[in-house]
Amino acid sequence: MQPKVDTSPQVSDEVRQTTCYMCACRCGINVHLKGGKVAYIEGNRDHPVNKGVLCAKGSAGIMQHNSPARLRAPLRRVGPRGSGEFEEISWDEALDLAVSWMKPLRDTAPEKLAFFTGRDQSQSLTGWWAQQFGTPNFAAHGGFCSVNMAAAGIYTMGGAFWEFGAPDWDHTKLFILFGVAEDHDSNPIKMGLGKLKARGAKVIGVNPVRSGYNAIADEWVGITPGTDGLLILSLVHCLLRAGRIDVEYLTRYTDAPLLIDCDPKSDSYGLLLRDTQGRAQVVDRATGRAVPVDTAGVAADPGGQVRQAGLTHVTVLHRLAETYLKPEYAPEAVASRCGVPAEQIHALAGQIARAAFEDPVVIDQPWTDWHGVQHNKMVGRGVAFHAMRGISAHANGFQTARALHMLQILLGAVETPGGMRFKPPYPKPADAHPKPHAQARAGQPLDGPPLGYPMGPEDLAVDDAGAPLRIDKAFSWENPLSVHGLMHMVISNAVAGDPYRIDTLFLYMANMAWNSSMNTRGVMEMLSRTDETGAYVIPRIIYSDAYSSEMVAYADLILPDTTYLERHDCISLLDRPVSEPDAAADAIRWPVVAPDRDVRGFQSVLLDLGARMGLPGMVQPDGTATYADYADYIMRHERRPGVGPLAGWRMGDGGVQHGRGAPNAAQIDSYVANGGFCEMHLPEEARYFKPWNAAYQAWAVQTGLQDAPSPYRFTLYSEPLRRFQRAAEGHGDLQPPDHLRAPLAAAMTPLPEWTAPPAPQGYPLHALTQRPMAMYHSWGSQNAWLRQIHGHNPMYLPTAVMREHGLRDGDWARVTSPHGQVTVPVAEMAALNPNTIWTWNAIGKRAGAWALSEDAPEAKKGFLLNHLIHELLPPKGDGLRWSNSDPVTGQAAWFDLRVRIEKSAPPTNPIPPQSSPVPAPPTDVRWQVKD
Ligand code: SF4
Repeated sequence: MQPKVDTSPQVSDEVRQTTCYMCACRCGINVHLKGGKVAYIEGNRDHPVNKGVLCAKGSAGIMQHNSPARLRAPLRRVGPRGSGEFEEISWDEALDLAVSWMKPLRDTAPEKLAFFTGRDQSQSLTGWWAQQFGTPNFAAHGGFCSVNMAAAGIYTMGGAFWEFGAPDWDHTKLFILFGVAEDHDSNPIKMGLGKLKARGAKVIGVNPVRSGYNAIADEWVGITPGTDGLLILSLVHCLLRAGRIDVEYLTRYTDAPLLIDCDPKSDSYGLLLRDTQGRAQVVDRATGRAVPVDTAGVAADPGGQVRQAGLTHVTVLHRLAETYLKPEYAPEAVASRCGVPAEQIHALAGQIARAAFEDPVVIDQPWTDWHGVQHNKMVGRGVAFHAMRGISAHANGFQTARALHMLQILLGAVETPGGMRFKPPYPKPADAHPKPHAQARAGQPLDGPPLGYPMGPEDLAVDDAGAPLRIDKAFSWENPLSVHGLMHMVISNAVAGDPYRIDTLFLYMANMAWNSSMNTRGVMEMLSRTDETGAYVIPRIIYSDAYSSEMVAYADLILPDTTYLERHDCISLLDRPVSEPDAAADAIRWPVVAPDRDVRGFQSVLLDLGARMGLPGMVQPDGTATYADYADYIMRHERRPGVGPLAGWRMGDGGVQHGRGAPNAAQIDSYVANGGFCEMHLPEEARYFKPWNAAYQAWAVQTGLQDAPSPYRFTLYSEPLRRFQRAAEGHGDLQPPDHLRAPLAAAMTPLPEWTAPPAPQGYPLHALTQRPMAMYHSWGSQNAWLRQIHGHNPMYLPTAVMREHGLRDGDWARVTSPHGQVTVPVAEMAALNPNTIWTWNAIGKRAGAWALSEDAPEAKKGFLLNHLIHELLPPKGDGLRWSNSDPVTGQAAWFDLRVRIEKSAPPTNPIPPQSSPVPAPPTDVRWQVKD
């Protein structure tokens, strides 16, 4: 009598393998098709990133691909900006219009085009395009995301976390996670945590909020936001006091034994002692004399000291110990500010020391270092860390991230078994990256890429008077090391004409009219602001996106993009690849289904625009386009001879090979046949100690990751930072404006220091956002399946705050910052720092956008904390408005937000709905895939 249920129905008649784009992790997916339609998505078990694991977002890709919010055709604005009134136009009309706006700018003043992209994965193409156009005004979204993490890592050790490196999940015994929500590196961290749990390794979470990964941690440290740097420096204090640092590792592989001029009266105070050939010096233990570092056979003394020319020089390690052994870093001195009891800090330091030094991780694998010295084993420390946006999105985030990298290095826990491991093409130190190029010339490309890594004031993007050359003021005295640009400042600077006005703002995948901006209402107003003549202050806005986001309504011209299943993409070793510590890997996306709308992949459109404007590299001498589309570019473009966007299946003398080689017209077919990716495994002897490992360096040259062996030392003491600090002190020809001297001198300390985040009076609570595991930025809450997990976002309040204000779950509260107010539904959460409230980010939507109905919970109960944050700090009374960002990199300090709350009625003045160019949402999104 039981019904017959087919428990193994045939779900597909074809499987196509590509790369997920439901978040930034880039997992491999098998897309099951039935009758030519997407029927089911599963993880690709062979893929290096996810090994078959698929998260909720990844499986819900089918709903993203079929989203009612998908744009359908190119659009030209016909109503006022913000009205959402558009007319459909043809691609030829759209491209002609775009060229008619941009080509005259290139011919006269290329910097008048500002080209900024959001969370795209094609920055090696987009950066090259901007360079060929000749505008310095290019960057992606890193400036408002996690540039502090990346920049601090690269300046300190040539790599950071996530795309640059990963914990040694197979060997670490103690894993400490700082400030990580659930979005970045999503599946790999989940898989890694699973491995740790299976092995019984200990996991400690340091985070004001105990959700997600922290909820499964063995120990939770509910730190006060913005104090991670102070806690880390206190741990360093404890380890130094206990003598628990790896002096041998520090002496061999880092700048610890290098000598610094420590005479404040000297002209070179704070710089490394160098010989006439510029070689940094160490003290030879045998003679007590200064000799060039890496002199064959010399044993450097990490505690050495010399006097030369009447000046005293001590080692970096000496200076470091002197700094952090000060009582101000003792646990008892920092505990109350960190919200972590002194005993817990001592205990944490003790756990780290025991895991690192009482039970080293030993791998029986001989290797040879760059001096030719043979080592018969690989020995490591068994302590690994990971951190992300939580510690970096503060005004002290750069130095906090540097402090964390310093802690890892002091333990000898970077590129050693059990510690943090780099993912090729990293390690790659700051001086191996290009410098920024910003000198725009009419009709000419830039001399090099717009983004890069300054090593001193001479590399800044400023004019002869010291004024910024870029619209976002990146690489200026205000933010010298803004290696990812400052996208969050583009619109406000352009409207203020500071440093100058632009003509065309060209954006891709960046929801600047909503969740990607601070001061959201203000940005919406700026996007539609007119001057005294009635003309828009930003005269033209071109926007490309696949979906009808809030930003669409503010553009003049829409270039509709495809979904990720309908396009070619290249996840390149030139950009942000999918490598793992044991293998360099890159990947593609390809159209596993054809678009059913009049849309085109943005990267193909960009190349088409480049060809129509005659940009170098995109057009042939006869005027025809160099590349038919992005797929053609991926296969034929060469950045250096033999090195192109994809490293797999290139043409060598003996046939097809991976790494270096000539272009191959069948390259993408080979990727498709291989599941969408290519892996190049490291030799066994190259797997650890990469910066100093002769086998790794040779392999990296052979595979085209670098052109020559480039061993280097980690930099605990940052000379580039010291050079800027010296300029602030008045040394050198290049000088900052006077009002920036003191802030620069305080921010650019060569050893990491902690500075307290702003704490405005009358705002006792910290307010944070976190990305949920099931959502990726604003994309998730248009997705019919994912909306069922997070349809709206309450503000989570600690129990004592709920009681104090007489609040119960579901009540409403007004949250006020120095900048504004939002009224939000509240929910109680006990596992929370007592002075912190938080919510999920980017769930709240503006009514009318994303093809959601106007009474969707995302619009009615969901909210956006961004309304409370401003890109400028409140006035301090000095006549200036200071940026709400890290003074080193310009990273937006989202998490420095301070608020107060009070019980309230539900909100009565929501932002009015906006019109959308896509049809009204369907009432039913069900369908059945049939043969
Ligand atoms: S972690 Fe990200 S890339 Fe991986 S399956 Fe989930 S959404 Fe896709």
